[in-house]
Amino acid sequence: MNYFSTRSGKNGSPVTAAQAIKQGLADDGGLFMPEGIPSLQDGDIERLSKLDYPHRAAEILGKFLTDYTYDELLEDAETAYSPDRFVGGAAPVRHIGGNFYSLELWHGPTAAFKDMALQIMPRLLSRALKKTGEERTATILVATSGDTGKAALEGYRDVEQIKIQVFYPQNGVSRVQKLQMATQLGENVDVCAIEGNFDDAQTGVKRIFADKQIAENLNERGCFLSSANSINWGRLAPQIVYYISAYCDMVSSGAISCGDVIDVCVPTGNFGNIFAGYIARRMGLPIGRLVCASNCNNVLTDFLESGKYDRNRAFHTTMSPSMDILISSNLERLLYTVAGHEETARCMAELNTKGEYTVSGATFEAIKDVFCGGYSTEEQTAAAIKSTWENYGYLMDTHTGVAYSCAERYSKESGTQNKILVVSTASAYKFAADVYESIYDEKPEDALAAVDMLSDKTNTEIAYPLRDIGKRAVRFERVIDKCDMEKVVLDFAK
Ligand SMILES: *Cc1c(COP(=O)(O)O)cnc(C)c1O
Repeated sequence: MNYFSTRSGKNGSPVTAAQAIKQGLADDGGLFMPEGIPSLQDGDIERLSKLDYPHRAAEILGKFLTDYTYDELLEDAETAYSPDRFVGGAAPVRHIGGNFYSLELWHGPTAAFKDMALQIMPRLLSRALKKTGEERTATILVATSGDTGKAALEGYRDVEQIKIQVFYPQNGVSRVQKLQMATQLGENVDVCAIEGNFDDAQTGVKRIFADKQIAENLNERGCFLSSANSINWGRLAPQIVYYISAYCDMVSSGAISCGDVIDVCVPTGNFGNIFAGYIARRMGLPIGRLVCASNCNNVLTDFLESGKYDRNRAFHTTMSPSMDILISSNLERLLYTVAGHEETARCMAELNTKGEYTVSGATFEAIKDVFCGGYSTEEQTAAAIKSTWENYGYLMDTHTGVAYSCAERYSKESGTQNKILVVSTASAYKFAADVYESIYDEKPEDALAAVDMLSDKTNTEIAYPLRDIGKRAVRFERVIDKCDMEKVVLDFAK
């Protein structure tokens, strides 16, 4: 199956899945999309229901990554989603209460849903290097404000022909996040704090990516730079798997019968997760509505109401920080799928120059047929966390709280009888202080102490990646001036 850019469509040159994964972004600035969306066949759900997660993943990924063999995909999926990495299952579905179910995507090594993609994507990239005849080592550079850096480090650690180097702002990440990165294991990893803020780290990394001299220097050392960006198709494809897997599990557990329509509510930032759900729906999975849940950075709620995307607005810092986003990059893929490359190219050019665009009437109708938007205030999110704990004994994190709160309102307003699958994107322990405060109306002073306090009070188990985090050996303590980033990158590439 060939891949094309969202901004040129079939006027552009086709690439293989391996090339799309290696390259990340298309030459015209667009995102890669497969030339068609494969369909589920009669009997697929029943058959997949009997398989474990890696076998489901190998089969579903195989429909998209046709230049990878089934055995390659299975080997990568079995490593990525092994029981020692995903303790308690890769993507289990739990009943919350009433018509509400939770798809838990946070049982991996960093206790958040980015692991679902970042555990397998590096392995797909490593194979892509071989398939495209690339002999150099890829150095993944990441500037992080916290969570993505750690998930990328865990994903790329000890993967063949790849190195990873992460920069974070010395005073711009939480103590837990800093400890998670400073204690990172792996032979091919490096972590470096920058004197400065996240922008300094981000600007430094961008500067290095754009520097031809550095590229040449690295080339002489047998290296080239690559990014772990969330718009890479290699991160999107693995996310399609868990929607289909969740449906299989709901059939197996008797929550639904095969063929029943479910609605799905996704806490959304960059639009990657929910777009993967849309692809699963296009493949024929019986999903009715996709509810796009936002926090008070509600640019997507307004878009789904009006057809106008307008990023010119105040940015809010919330207790669901992974959803504090004003440009949802993967929305470009939805525009392309619904409207084609011409309208997509127009909208993206307008977003670039004016910070806003309006889709055509027909495009808006097609999107409204499937999606509906909603958002939760901080108070509504806290109330959702408290009520699901008190009424059902179900503990959820702040991002899942946003989604649950939106799902409840959607259920009331639409009157749907469908079962609603709420996508749960982080362990409550990752945001323990805010979760604790939401339930007990009292703010723990120390974020590390909040983890134990939450466990003691609720009598629930701490997610394994966050246990004993204060006791691990620190490997990376270096703090550098932002002007020295180039040198540090070249040194690491030796
Ligand atoms: C990244 C992230 C999200 C947002 O997912 P998108 O794919 O960017 O929409 C939601 N919750 C958590 C915990 C995340 O880490």
